[in-house]
Amino acid sequence: MIKHIILVVLLCFFGQTVYSQTKYTYRSPLNIPLAISANFGELRPNHFHMGVDFKTNGVEGLSLFAVEDGFISRVKVSPFGYGKVIYIDHPNGVTSVYAHCSAFKGKLDSIVKLTQEKEQNFEVEIYFTEKDIPVKKGDLIALSGNTGSSTAPHLHFELRDTKTEDALNPLLYGFEIADYKAPEIRGIKVYSLTNEGYQIPGKAKYFKVTKGQFGYYVGGDLISIPSDFSTLLGGIGFAVEVVDFVDGSTNTCGLFGSALKTEKDTLFCQEIKRVSFDETRYINSHKDYVEYTVNKRKFHKSFKTDENPLDMYSCSQNNGVIPVKPGDTLAIHYAAFDLKGNKSELKFKTAVLAGSPNTTATIFPSWKYLFPDSSYHFHSDQAEFYVKEMTFYEPTLKNLSLKGTFSLGDAKTPIQQAITVKLKSSNKPTSKNYLAVTTAGGRIKPLATSIEGEWFTAESMYLGSFSIKTDTLAPSITPLNFKETDLVTTKKRLTWKVMEYQTLLSDYDLFIDGKWVLLEYEEKSNYVFYDRPSTFTGEHELLLIAKDRCGNVKEWRKKIKFQ
Ligand SMILES: [Zn+2]
Repeated sequence: MIKHIILVVLLCFFGQTVYSQTKYTYRSPLNIPLAISANFGELRPNHFHMGVDFKTNGVEGLSLFAVEDGFISRVKVSPFGYGKVIYIDHPNGVTSVYAHCSAFKGKLDSIVKLTQEKEQNFEVEIYFTEKDIPVKKGDLIALSGNTGSSTAPHLHFELRDTKTEDALNPLLYGFEIADYKAPEIRGIKVYSLTNEGYQIPGKAKYFKVTKGQFGYYVGGDLISIPSDFSTLLGGIGFAVEVVDFVDGSTNTCGLFGSALKTEKDTLFCQEIKRVSFDETRYINSHKDYVEYTVNKRKFHKSFKTDENPLDMYSCSQNNGVIPVKPGDTLAIHYAAFDLKGNKSELKFKTAVLAGSPNTTATIFPSWKYLFPDSSYHFHSDQAEFYVKEMTFYEPTLKNLSLKGTFSLGDAKTPIQQAITVKLKSSNKPTSKNYLAVTTAGGRIKPLATSIEGEWFTAESMYLGSFSIKTDTLAPSITPLNFKETDLVTTKKRLTWKVMEYQTLLSDYDLFIDGKWVLLEYEEKSNYVFYDRPSTFTGEHELLLIAKDRCGNVKEWRKKIKFQ
């Protein structure tokens, strides 16, 4: 039985804490020295990085071990996301997660393969009880890999609170990485804000931060902002662009903690220790979304809206909204730190120029904007949009069209939960029709669509313009590591490229002499492959079938002799 998790606070300075861990008995999931290529809490599209990425020497196939006694509670095989992933529940209330594996080992491997065969599906998810597959600390459970959305071999490792499934920062819970490098401050941004912490459109200013011999500098230690950043309805807020590093690696890591102080007060602090999966998408409210997507700058806001529920703000005065008047000068002190206590600081003054404040009484008129705390239903005889409360992070331009073209909001604006879109078809609907949304990049994205009478319904995680499309094109199938004309092969693995051009692949199956065999699928590369057992030889008939969501089917047949 593992002792309770105890965090010992060693030092406190500038509202910042250095953590040390005791009473952990986890072993490493790998048998090589632990090095990370990504840390917990890094800013990613629509989520914080919920674990750490352990390096695997750039290769697949390293042995992965259970970090503590427990039992395998869940396993999943998917061509997306975590790929092949194992969850182990431990008696201390923590679950360890091993993602992007290339293969499972032992009893687990046989159970997964039997289930795949029974369900005739590569994609499976199985939940277990503690009696099914108990494991001992150090048991070999899998081989490391690059499956799912991973783009290079590594082990994505997580610790979760078993009960809440919150992701825990593994570097605070028993896994240590040498780190003597302080975070690097790269930029500052100042925003004009409403009282609710909403950004006032067009009123934000970016300042580049430089690293000098004696520390960090911005604008000769004095930056100035226009007088109309001051508003009677709110104040100003700051965001800091920071990346971090660990020893023995050139990878940039995410920021663990920051504190924003004025002369008198500590105004806003963050420390990423745990993140709930239900809330991780609120990263779109935490980071400066436009800087992240357009300029690739990783800004952490030191202010928040009331709707932002993230549990990482260890101090917050007035949500970080600082009331100012034209002519005011503020002394600002930023500290950015990692969980080893390495710290960088930036001190500067912010002058609000003399002049007129912003006196606009209604910054977000309700005929023009949609609000985070409201639900909406827009409809005409051709279209309907349903929007739940807590869908928007900020007041969002309505941009509504319900006739001829159908749109709501802007594809560039992130949302927290799906909106429901209903469009009426002007022609008789067929199974080849589907609803699609045009994304920010101009890409047409298919939506999982249900058709009832003339009405098409779909849930969309994107705002923007919606339309009914038709897909009559089947996927294509092309041999990748052998030739269409080959009559004989010595290959142990046969690989094909399967491309679906409009919607998504819904099914892919390989039959050999009429019998279903396991065909693995990697969505990121669009390839499927079959690994034959070494004893499997002789001439056989292969039939590969690929089907898209609109039911368009491609069949690929061939007799081939395995040697
Ligand atoms: Zn990862």
